[in-house]
Amino acid sequence: MLSLRSVCRSFREGERLHRVLDGAEAEIRDGEFVVIVGRSGSGKSTLLNLISGIDVPDSGTISFDDTVVSQLPEPERTYFRRRNVGFVYQFFNLIPTLNVEENVRLALELDGVRGISARRQAVELLDQVGLASRAASSPDVLSGGEQQRVALARALAHRPRLLLADEPTGNLDSDNAHQVQELLSDLVRRCGSTLILATHAEAPRALADRVLELSDGRLHEIAP
Ligand code: ADP
Ligand code: MG
Repeated sequence: MLSLRSVCRSFREGERLHRVLDGAEAEIRDGEFVVIVGRSGSGKSTLLNLISGIDVPDSGTISFDDTVVSQLPEPERTYFRRRNVGFVYQFFNLIPTLNVEENVRLALELDGVRGISARRQAVELLDQVGLASRAASSPDVLSGGEQQRVALARALAHRPRLLLADEPTGNLDSDNAHQVQELLSDLVRRCGSTLILATHAEAPRALADRVLELSDGRLHEIAP
């Protein structure tokens, strides 16, 4: 369903071009959990930004089913992303002036769900991440792991077909990291979503269907 062909992306650094992606190729099937590993600076975040259509490659194509996302004009890429893609980042990016339920509800409302229905769905999503009892709390009284679980509930609000997680446990201690990884894996499997998780850490590899290593601008399949 997701296909990357000869994807290249460079950034200008003063006089010279820094080639970050240099012919990256991959085929990722519906419902797969793929971990992308690679040292810091290898281009993992760049790759996720291309997959979501936040950025476009200099050459090569990225397609999702029959849509060549990398060739869509910007407004259509934004629409594609809103419909199909959920994000979880290293920093949880919860809105501090809204309580936990309101943070999740905002995502539902942006997706057109309103009123009592939005409230009910927000609580259901929080229940799935084990935090229904914290619905009225402010995000800043939650632990890092709990905040990331709220961010995960929010990312799943519009039932994305594709969930992109960029160093989702980079800010968590190992116990919380483990819990968030298992939850991510469980939830996407239950929803049938595809999960692409980028990390420089070793830990989540065991949960994945496949591990792709990004090095020298290309993706190489390695043993989980
Ligand atoms: P990773 O996520 O694997 O740590 P990144 O994708 O963030 O790596 O970055 C890969 C390389 O591309 C880095 O050298 C970074 O400085 C460079 N880079 C990323 N985005 C930009 C940008 N918008 N402008 C210039 N250089 C960038
Ligand atoms: Mg990164």
